Amino acid sequence: MAEIHAKESPERVLELERWGAVFDRTWQGRIHQRPFGAHTYPRLAHIGDRTGLELLRTLQDRAVHTNRVDVQMEVTVFKLLKSGGRLAGALAYRRLDGSLILYRCGGLLLASGGAGKMYRVTSNSWESTGDGTALAYDAGAQLRDMEMVQFHPTGMVWPAGVRGILVTEGVRGEGGVLRNMDGDRFMERYDHERMELSSRDIVARAINSEVGAGRGSPHGGVFLDITHRKPEFIKRKLPSMYEQFLKLAKVDITKQPMEVAPTIHYAMGGVRVDAETGATTVPGLYAAGEVAAGLHGANRLGGNSLSDLLVFGKRAGEGAAAAALSTSRSANATLDQGEVDDAVAVLMAPLDRPAGENPYQLQVEIQETMSKYAPIVRDGPGLETGLEKILELGARAKVCGTGGSPSLAFNPGWHTAHDLHSMLVNAEALLRSAQERKESRGAHARSDFPKTDTELDDMNFIVEKSPEGMVVRAQRRPPLPDYLAEAVQHSYARYTPEERE
Ligand SMILES: Cc1cc2nc3c(=O)[nH]c(=O)nc-3n(C[C@H](O)[C@H](O)[C@H](O)COP(=O)(O)OP(=O)(O)OC[C@H]3O[C@@H](n4cnc5c(N)ncnc54)[C@H](O)[C@@H]3O)c2cc1C
Repeated sequence: MAEIHAKESPERVLELERWGAVFDRTWQGRIHQRPFGAHTYPRLAHIGDRTGLELLRTLQDRAVHTNRVDVQMEVTVFKLLKSGGRLAGALAYRRLDGSLILYRCGGLLLASGGAGKMYRVTSNSWESTGDGTALAYDAGAQLRDMEMVQFHPTGMVWPAGVRGILVTEGVRGEGGVLRNMDGDRFMERYDHERMELSSRDIVARAINSEVGAGRGSPHGGVFLDITHRKPEFIKRKLPSMYEQFLKLAKVDITKQPMEVAPTIHYAMGGVRVDAETGATTVPGLYAAGEVAAGLHGANRLGGNSLSDLLVFGKRAGEGAAAAALSTSRSANATLDQGEVDDAVAVLMAPLDRPAGENPYQLQVEIQETMSKYAPIVRDGPGLETGLEKILELGARAKVCGTGGSPSLAFNPGWHTAHDLHSMLVNAEALLRSAQERKESRGAHARSDFPKTDTELDDMNFIVEKSPEGMVVRAQRRPPLPDYLAEAVQHSYARYTPEERE
């Protein structure tokens, strides 16, 4: 996947430009490339600090102006349906009025994003409840690398209401420095070569250690300072950050440092897919983007998600379209009515339990559990306690209500009642996989196994549903072809054995 990503990203960026996204330029008129954490070379094509937003706008515009693309807004997919062992449809509801939709299809592509909402402090939106991972798991698909969730080193910490909102790595890319309460540029002690532009896991753990050692900022973070740059430079290069801090925290980042702390940001794990086509292990089901696993291994580098979406979104879209075209109409028309009726009954059940468990309370308890027992640095006993609590919460979620309202029309209590299942599947898979990986690697740090175990270099943990419940098993990857193995050795050769560790 890394090879495909490296080879195809440039063409996807140029394609976006042809569709209307205008990337920042060098003075010679070429696409400007900025450094991000752990990049060997400055290689991040960007649009100010709003690359994702422009990407969304461009692709949305392209989609709505393309013939035969039917956009259905505010629709939540609740269950994937199979026929004869292959994906054949989906049950969904419209959030605005609760009316149901039954889709029939020959190919379905999941692009439902991450699962950051299972943690209390996250940069992710309210939508990131890990639905896609749970939908695929329930349909029998394999998941992988679920232990690998990324803490972005810099989220806002103050005021409390904005805690977790992302402070882009672009601030450090443009020269921002991190200091503790004593004014020390502490990254010197954690990665004296790459300093603030070390990889996200190292910077996040460094901040965590500084705060833990009592050298944190007043609200439990550290300081990120870019005031040594000219105000015009900051406003031009980081316009969103300038506005974000001014509006939300009344901090002028051209004059004052920002207070930042790690925030849950990205799921490296997710649905297991075929690199070439995005096919999952369920025929007819495809996945791309943050919901899919594989490209980023244990540690995503900044900027690589957006290019991942472009490269593998295209490939998986083509894969799903080919599956749809090759499926005969009669095959995709046969959905099991009994299965549909059962799914509708489960969907509606919380509405009949107005006095059931409060879904918001359960959501908070899931977030508290994950934040406490699967934090930046984990350990075996903590993971075990976390798993016990998540299983208890799972039992309580089965009898939860809607928080009072019986209405189908935009009912957030009802929606939250169903988000719980997705969050619980993701949380359980994370905790079980993290228990199995008895080492520290990338974003997965264990205080009881602080070293990287080279025996696990090529080992992935695969999660799937069995009649007894969720199972996790270790699986070795086939060896890399020689030319790729050489490229990996070449890049490792830059580091001493201690640095590699
Ligand atoms: C604040 C922030 C800044 C970031 N900045 C960068 C960056 O600079 N560079 C970079 O490379 N990456 C960045 N990332 C990461 C990157 O933006 C995400 O990984 C990426 O947007 C994920 O895209 P996606 O299409 O997979 O999912 P999303 O963009 O999350 O889209 C998922 C969509 O699926 C919908 N959905 C979810 N569940 C269901 C359901 N059950 N039924 C129907 N629809 C559903 C959601 O509503 C949403 O619209 C950033 C992330 C955040 C949060």
